[in-house]
Amino acid sequence: MKLQKFTFNPFQENTYIIYDESKEALIIDPGCYDSLEEKELADFIESNGLKPVRLLNTHAHIDHVFGNQFINDKYDLELELHELDFPILEAAALAAQTYGLNYKESPKAGKKLVEGEYIEFGNTKLKIIHVPGHAPGHVVFYNEAEKIIIGGDVLFRGSIGRTDLPGGNHQQLLDQIRKKLFVLPTDVTVYPGHGPETTIGYELSHNPFF
Ligand SMILES: [Zn+2]
Ligand SMILES: [Zn+2]
Repeated sequence: MKLQKFTFNPFQENTYIIYDESKEALIIDPGCYDSLEEKELADFIESNGLKPVRLLNTHAHIDHVFGNQFINDKYDLELELHELDFPILEAAALAAQTYGLNYKESPKAGKKLVEGEYIEFGNTKLKIIHVPGHAPGHVVFYNEAEKIIIGGDVLFRGSIGRTDLPGGNHQQLLDQIRKKLFVLPTDVTVYPGHGPETTIGYELSHNPFF
């Protein structure tokens, strides 16, 4: 599995394209904010001959959904999201307004991401793990074979996601990280929604929240 990271929009959000030798690709949390960022994403897909097959959101905070409509339009992909984040997606337009940012309204989710199910594409399989606390319907995508997690805003290098937004819960986030992520092998790499990647082992020994 290959992974390409882009950092987009005023929140410096990490957008990921994941693909393998089949050339099928997943687009996770497309945060592209303007036509330049949209072009950067589309150019990468085109120049690598990729075929986007799924559009996934780890959660529906505004910085992770700016590009949903663009991807939906361009590649005809329906959005997939955990149902507990459907209300967060509904509130995204209001959130954009609060920050004074432009927002092309995201399509509603067409498919639900469910804890324990797998996302399969090409020759690759990712497990859906529900890790609420930063957002109620937050999920991460775990490639068990290659020990890689696309982690959204749950666990950062040396930090954790904020919990002061609607549906956030600090204690729940700590408990969920312990129960669902810190039980994984220490050499699993986490690619977060903001900032650089980290590993489960590094966070177990360095993260000040634990
Ligand atoms: Zn978030
Ligand atoms: Zn974020």
